[in-house]
Amino acid sequence: MLQQLLIRSHARAAIWLCIIACVAACGTDPAGEVSSGAVAEQKFNWKLVTAWPPNLPINHDVVMQFASDVATMSRGQMTIQVYAGGELIPALEVFEAVSNGTIVQMGHSAAYYWAGKVPAAQYMSAVPFGLTARGMAAWLLGGDGLKLWREIYAPFDLVPFPMGNTGTQMGGWFNKRVDSVADLDGLKMRIPGLGGKALAKAGGNPILLSGGEVYIALERGNIDATEWVGPLHDVRFGLDRAAKYYYYPGWHEPSTQLELIVNKPAWEGLPEHLQLIIESAAAAGGVDLHSRMEAENAKAYAKLRESGHIEMVEFPQEVLEALYSSSREALDAEAQKDVKFQEVRENYEAFQKTFEAWDDITEDAYRQFYNRALD
Ligand code: CA
Repeated sequence: MLQQLLIRSHARAAIWLCIIACVAACGTDPAGEVSSGAVAEQKFNWKLVTAWPPNLPINHDVVMQFASDVATMSRGQMTIQVYAGGELIPALEVFEAVSNGTIVQMGHSAAYYWAGKVPAAQYMSAVPFGLTARGMAAWLLGGDGLKLWREIYAPFDLVPFPMGNTGTQMGGWFNKRVDSVADLDGLKMRIPGLGGKALAKAGGNPILLSGGEVYIALERGNIDATEWVGPLHDVRFGLDRAAKYYYYPGWHEPSTQLELIVNKPAWEGLPEHLQLIIESAAAAGGVDLHSRMEAENAKAYAKLRESGHIEMVEFPQEVLEALYSSSREALDAEAQKDVKFQEVRENYEAFQKTFEAWDDITEDAYRQFYNRALD
């Protein structure tokens, strides 16, 4: 965590140094006004829409900070007005609105929401038994991930940037125990996307519900279980009052990458220094979002444990193995329908294999020692 915060402060320091260098290069007249020539002439007033409910903790704050950073770093040449889901357009129309570019130029969301349009986009947010946040960042920025992401969004006139990760999510809230594979039979669970498809193949019954319906459905027993995010967001949502068992780990979302998307013609119309400011502010915002998510989840988890009103349960190994097999089947079925999905999958899985071997002898080996030492 400290390392990430240091990276963030370094990123900020680097951005400020660039700005200071630019201002110095542009020259300052005797009255103290920056005379930067034609570059600073044109103003850009953009709109950004998010796929998050208004004031969603962390996500909303980080996007607001991003907009403020861009305004400060550009010395007011660029302003970004932020609208939460539903304030300007519905949350699940972010992709289309930014692609269209007539009302808004930017969006903050998660790529798996757009699976209906771009099946391969699921690899840019979360797939069951996929990469953790550390591996995801490595694939996107150190491997081919971001290049592939730009390729699959190009037909929609969108330029994507990674901007935040939720970290490993929780398995979800259950009112029925899952002690064996047989307990998955007929299990009614709110779990969207590929995780839902994998659950169905393992005998479960995935239910699609919007965020607003989840609590009531669980509390009234219309569903047996639901996944959401992690302790911070789950408790704010009241889910700890609607279910007894809190399962882990989140096999279906081992990390969920979030995105900043920019309308391509609008992006190409920006001077290079504003493009760099956006890219740098998004990178800093992404580290900020992930760091705060891990810190706040850890604190919320500690509080939950202290309260003693819920039971933490680890999924049994045989249940995870069954869900792993059914996840593979779900991914195979997607790959058969979409060539690009298969292409991205091959690249992702080859990276995952190499990365996991490295993870085995680094973080994983370290954690195993640490866990044994604490036992
Ligand atoms: Ca989730």
